[in-house]
Amino acid sequence: MIKIGVLGGAGRMGQMIAREILAKQHAHANLHAAVEHNKSWAIGKDVGGILGIDPCGTCVTTSKHDAFKSCDVLIDFTTADALIEHAQLAHEHGRALVVGTTGLGEPEMAALKVASQKAPVLQAANMSLGVNILLSMVEKAAAMLDQEYDIEIFEAHHRHKIDAPSGTALALAESAAKGRGVSLDAALVPARYGQIGARPPGAIGVSVFRGGDVVGDHTVTFAGTGERIEFLHKASDRSLFAKGAVRAAMWLGGKPPGFYSMRDVLGI
Ligand code: NAD
Repeated sequence: MIKIGVLGGAGRMGQMIAREILAKQHAHANLHAAVEHNKSWAIGKDVGGILGIDPCGTCVTTSKHDAFKSCDVLIDFTTADALIEHAQLAHEHGRALVVGTTGLGEPEMAALKVASQKAPVLQAANMSLGVNILLSMVEKAAAMLDQEYDIEIFEAHHRHKIDAPSGTALALAESAAKGRGVSLDAALVPARYGQIGARPPGAIGVSVFRGGDVVGDHTVTFAGTGERIEFLHKASDRSLFAKGAVRAAMWLGGKPPGFYSMRDVLGI
């Protein structure tokens, strides 16, 4: 039985992950902890009660050390600000950490890399099978198509999303840059407004829509002269990501320290 702790357990994704673990409770997984920050409305509440199902005996706490000590795997769907502390705790306790939180910059990625020296760490901006296949296809297409094909990425998300562009859009841009053999830092054009001039050759553009309840759409276009190739992924249900996160946690438990991706879990 793998003991799983959810960091951000009362959040939108945290609740979905808890629901997914509780549904699997009979089969090798156990919701051992749900952790929140110390001002959360959910502290002390039974997770089952929060989900509107039978009490499960696991209440939301703020005890991060206890969760890292007692769980086999922690799943983090919080914020980039919170992640560094969680990476340090994974390092200190040698506990497996699955990170779905997006909006990560260099300090957060560096903290995860340090943690991965002592603990298995899996980070994925998108836990769905479809997007991970898309990442691989975009890398291959970018390797086959030269700079005559302009790469543009478009993403759309619900009105509550706090980071932009989405972690998935950036991961797609990274795959495109990797396929093309260029640095993303040099190629990325994240926003356009006003007299921006002609498109620089080799740019990888990313544009963003925010509104309504869009779960997550991503389109990667290779725009050549006389033709366009488009790769499109639409997520229609957020439980997709929760299922992927729990699958990743079950896979990661017991692995040696190291840095893993969703592609490792899915074998693609
Ligand atoms: P949310 O705001 O609903 O939930 C975040 C939760 O984290 C909240 O309950 C909040 O109280 C808690 N939290 C904040 N700071 C904390 C701290 N210091 N310690 C403990 N808990 C803390 O957000 P959400 O929609 O659930 O998304 C969470 C993250 O997951 C975002 O970064 C989002 O982009 C990402 N996400 C990733 C995927 C994926 O497949 N990788 C899919 C969907 C969302």
